[in-house]
Amino acid sequence: MSYIKVKNKKGTADNTPPTGYTSWLDFWENKKSKKATTCEVLSCNGNADVGGHVIKSGEGGKEYILPICYSDNNKPDNEEYQAWENDLVPVT
Ligand SMILES: [Zn+2]
Repeated sequence: MSYIKVKNKKGTADNTPPTGYTSWLDFWENKKSKKATTCEVLSCNGNADVGGHVIKSGEGGKEYILPICYSDNNKPDNEEYQAWENDLVPVT
């Protein structure tokens, strides 16, 4: 398992979750078959408030969901942070 640099993807606030999911956090929990409890940003101990839309640095526009706290979800979209690659669930 390794960690990677990610960034928030901009313009996703109105992005509704796929049919059958109540939220993006619900989507993540179903895909991972576990509850999201703490913010998955490395070195953050906040709550997993939302399923944040992130992209991997240098990968282009491919979008992933990562459980993060409100504070990290409001980071500017050019600010990189680290997360475990294993915790990213691709949006398909
Ligand atoms: Zn956080």
